[in-house]
Amino acid sequence: MVDLVSIIYEYSRRERERHKREEGVFWVTDLVRCPLKRVYETIYPELSLRDLFNPRLIVGTLVHRGVEGLVKELLTGFKVEVEVEGSRRVLLSDGSEVEVRGRLDVLIVGNGSREAVEVKTARSDKSIPQRHHVDQARAYNWLFDLDRVYLLYITPERISQYTVEDRMNDAEVAERIESRRAPRYQWECSYCNYSVLCPSKVVT
Ligand code: SF4
Repeated sequence: MVDLVSIIYEYSRRERERHKREEGVFWVTDLVRCPLKRVYETIYPELSLRDLFNPRLIVGTLVHRGVEGLVKELLTGFKVEVEVEGSRRVLLSDGSEVEVRGRLDVLIVGNGSREAVEVKTARSDKSIPQRHHVDQARAYNWLFDLDRVYLLYITPERISQYTVEDRMNDAEVAERIESRRAPRYQWECSYCNYSVLCPSKVVT
């Protein structure tokens, strides 16, 4: 007997291990979400364990893997790489330096340009492209020195792509790292693992 569920569970576990918190390292996703989550992840790591085997998140991961494989297989005439990691150092206002890391779903190089694909799955196509996804794409343009990011939305109603050419700069990245605005977006608390103990939770 082959235990397929265990294989998926093991994959989720390995992905989590790859993204363990390190002192002085910020991921691009930290720039586009509530800064308190990063703090609580360190203090209360067990509260996010349920995400390890959340079917909705796993479906999103599998769609990512599928799209990455398709682009690599079918896009010809370009150099295509998947799951590409990059990092850059940023100077903060107190004179200290931190590292910002990110991981592209797909990097496409050719015809004199550097482009990336960021895959997003959603339950509906309401309000796409979402503000925090556009900001994430702007951060990737900065981090990987890209010409553009294609935000590819896969939803039950629509499969659509949006092009983001705008980019963050060092000052905006530093400002986002130093920001204490919690939550960063009003809707975040409704989906937050730490809302069960957070004094800054916004109840809507
Ligand atoms: S509950 Fe809201 S304010 Fe608190 S950590 Fe979560 S997103 Fe941030």
